[in-house]
Amino acid sequence: MKAQKGAIRALTTHYIDGAFVESHGREVMDIIRPTDGQLIGRVTLADEEDTRRAIAAARRAFATYGRSRKEERAKLLRQVHDATSARFDDLTAAMVEEYGGVVQFAGLIVQSGVNAFMAAEKALQEIPLTRSWDKTTVTLEPVGVAGLITAWNANALFICLKLASAVAAGCTVVVKPSELSALQTRVLLEALHEAELPKGLLNVVTGRGDVVGAELVRNPDVDKISFTGSVGVGETIMRDGAATMKRMTLELGGKSPTIVLDDAKLEEAIPKALGMAFLNSGQACAAGTRLLVPKKSFEAAKRAIAEAMRAFPVGDPADPKIAVGPMVSHKQYERVQSYIRKGIEEGAEVLVGGEGHPKGLEAGYFVKPTVFVNVRNDMTIAQEEIFGPVLSVITYDTEDEAIRIANDSKYGLHAAVLGTNVQRARRVAAQLRAGRVVINGMTDDPQAPWGGFKYSGIGREYGQYGIEAFLETRAILDA
Ligand code: NAD
Repeated sequence: MKAQKGAIRALTTHYIDGAFVESHGREVMDIIRPTDGQLIGRVTLADEEDTRRAIAAARRAFATYGRSRKEERAKLLRQVHDATSARFDDLTAAMVEEYGGVVQFAGLIVQSGVNAFMAAEKALQEIPLTRSWDKTTVTLEPVGVAGLITAWNANALFICLKLASAVAAGCTVVVKPSELSALQTRVLLEALHEAELPKGLLNVVTGRGDVVGAELVRNPDVDKISFTGSVGVGETIMRDGAATMKRMTLELGGKSPTIVLDDAKLEEAIPKALGMAFLNSGQACAAGTRLLVPKKSFEAAKRAIAEAMRAFPVGDPADPKIAVGPMVSHKQYERVQSYIRKGIEEGAEVLVGGEGHPKGLEAGYFVKPTVFVNVRNDMTIAQEEIFGPVLSVITYDTEDEAIRIANDSKYGLHAAVLGTNVQRARRVAAQLRAGRVVINGMTDDPQAPWGGFKYSGIGREYGQYGIEAFLETRAILDA
């Protein structure tokens, strides 16, 4: 589906058993462009019946694909990589239009998604699927049919990551993309269709979480759920999945700390810290939304922040110079506004930004990138995930206090340490209760695990860790 400017697109099909099939569900949802609030499409949502058909197709396909060998899985991963690479520009354009992701970041997200298939192929080669000693043989078996449920903030990446691990493990899948990502999913799906996967390996049903998602979670023919989304929904999935003993990977929220150590050069550290805070317009689970600076550097840090903000202009996400785009929806716009108001009510001071739309951007769901100073870590804006470009600056006296504040959060997904002495930064990093800690800037490694401590989730994605989450062990013992 090429983006047709001005035309309202209608999506009425789901992808089941290797074909696009008309929706059994009849509910229609509008697709709204976040830059101007205009209607750009309509999607017919799946119901429980569509979901059950998709699960049945995945179950049938598992009978064969579940017995596949490494070579076959590796070949499919290469095919999928090639097919998705060919649609790189369309995938990026869809993320910019439907979600409002800034093109400079959307391109990176799509690239990571496409790369996930080659990363999974590499990781698969390194996992011994059979190990033997004495009279014992242990094999790693695919867990079965997996339900993959995604969030809207990087929908294509999440589908690619989960699908890559599942294919590498020998699983078949039913994807429930975010209902706010129907156009992006369609472009990805067209690419995946070209990859000529075995029929029924991949099924995609777009629908509501409490309809399609809930059916995946309760259906006994689904063995595993891999979910990316909010803590609240993660709790529901874990509770409801217990009835059918579902295996679970839950990638949930974050309130990530960025610690600026007292040996950091502020003119380098602060722009990096803002980059992590405003990542994906602040709609990122890993966004570094708590900035911890030494008390003695507070005034200098404020000046450095005011200066560095010039590199974060808000506006049209299709413009490569723009760093912060609109929020995904009116609801998300209102959510961010309510947190900015809460921060002011609780006594934090607005250093930059504040309530309302940026001037000239009143039509869309744009918010002002906002930095609060004089924040205490027990304030709502420092404890709750806002999911918008709102940064809380908190001061500390000693390194130990910085570590204590960083860990004083229900979340533990991501963290950053910025400083000149790398050994010292690593020592601090090793004391942070987070699934990933980056030193001196945001970076990625597709073989390094991704996932959270505490309320940030259960299990890991990426590389061997991601594939293992779709495997069961079986031991065979000779007498
Ligand atoms: P959400 O929890 O509202 O929705 C996520 C998905 O779950 C959607 O597809 C939704 O339809 C579905 N869902 C809703 N109710 C369901 C139910 N009862 N059963 C099954 N599925 C259901 O989250 P969101 O608003 O789409 O995304 C934002 C959240 O995702 C943030 O909290 C963010 O931190 C988190 N997130 C985490 C990661 C990570 O890797 N840890 C990455 C991105 C986003």
